[in-house]
Amino acid sequence: MSGSTEGDLTKTGMALKHDREWDYELDRILEAIEERDASKVGLQFPEGLKRRGPKVADDLREVAPDDVTFMLSGQPCYGACDLDTYLMRRTDVFVHFGHTPMKESDSIVYVPLFSNVDPFPIMEDALDEELAPPEEDPDVGLVTTAQHMNRFEEMTDWLEERGYEVHTRRGDDRLTKEGQVLGCNYASADIDAEQVLYVGGGKFHPVGLAMEHPDKRVVIADPVNNAVSIAEHDQFLKQRYAAVHKAMDAEKWGVIFCTKIGQGRWEKAQEIVDNNENAYLITMDEVTPDRLRNFDMDAFVNTGCPRITTDDGPRFHKPMLTPGEYEAAIGEKPLDSIEFDTFHDTW
Ligand code: SF4
Repeated sequence: MSGSTEGDLTKTGMALKHDREWDYELDRILEAIEERDASKVGLQFPEGLKRRGPKVADDLREVAPDDVTFMLSGQPCYGACDLDTYLMRRTDVFVHFGHTPMKESDSIVYVPLFSNVDPFPIMEDALDEELAPPEEDPDVGLVTTAQHMNRFEEMTDWLEERGYEVHTRRGDDRLTKEGQVLGCNYASADIDAEQVLYVGGGKFHPVGLAMEHPDKRVVIADPVNNAVSIAEHDQFLKQRYAAVHKAMDAEKWGVIFCTKIGQGRWEKAQEIVDNNENAYLITMDEVTPDRLRNFDMDAFVNTGCPRITTDDGPRFHKPMLTPGEYEAAIGEKPLDSIEFDTFHDTW
């Protein structure tokens, strides 16, 4: 990985400046425990929130009946696509913290943990500094992440009060909320506006958004780091071209099919191996450099989470490409046609 942190999305938006307090919705969890007369309860937190797990378990143990056992998932988790299905099958109530549902389900209690950071001061700065004023361009798209979803309507009203026509839409099946984006899906920004206001922490999402919608100007209002900026994807694109170049001479390809519940793209993976006799299907849940090191391949194609490919790609011992980039590397399409790899289904 290069010494510069620019373009290294894993390092952005991670240092939180504001302390955040969360509502763990213990009452709702307790209600589910009572309703189902549960004796085993699974709790799953994403990586950034795992350290809070024992405290939440303590609080629940205090209020739940004595015979209830709480289990914390120790599996890595980076998104709503990434449910601990092993724990889910073995518990009467399964609680997934930190994400809105990717797909509604009665058997899962989702506790999104909305941010309590006020987004409006930084939206005000974004209007002053980067957004075209409504008299110049009244159309603006609005998108945000799961953490700020609870204020989405207020944000829309706030922009409308300032003279904008706000364009929002619910993306596709992978997105359950209006205006929501994921690191692998920006369909909610397919709107009729040249400027899009992204309200949320870090550069991880907006850079993907700018890649996916290169015709739009993506203004970032980051209420977590208290910063306004424009999403630039040049550095990102350069890294992708470099990875494709490195893979152009590859003969043996490892094609990764991810077994995580919301990360499987079987048809895509199969299509590649069907058409290339030097391609081998490798199935795995967590895709890490260590797990791939012992495979004697010249390059890999990842049909699982696109952010593993783009953000962690340089950590792998051989080039790691998205399915679209693979086509460019084997000469099936021109290099300048590569796009951000997006994901549109659930399970
Ligand atoms: S596939 Fe990756 S980017 Fe998409 S929701 Fe899952 S973890 Fe996030």
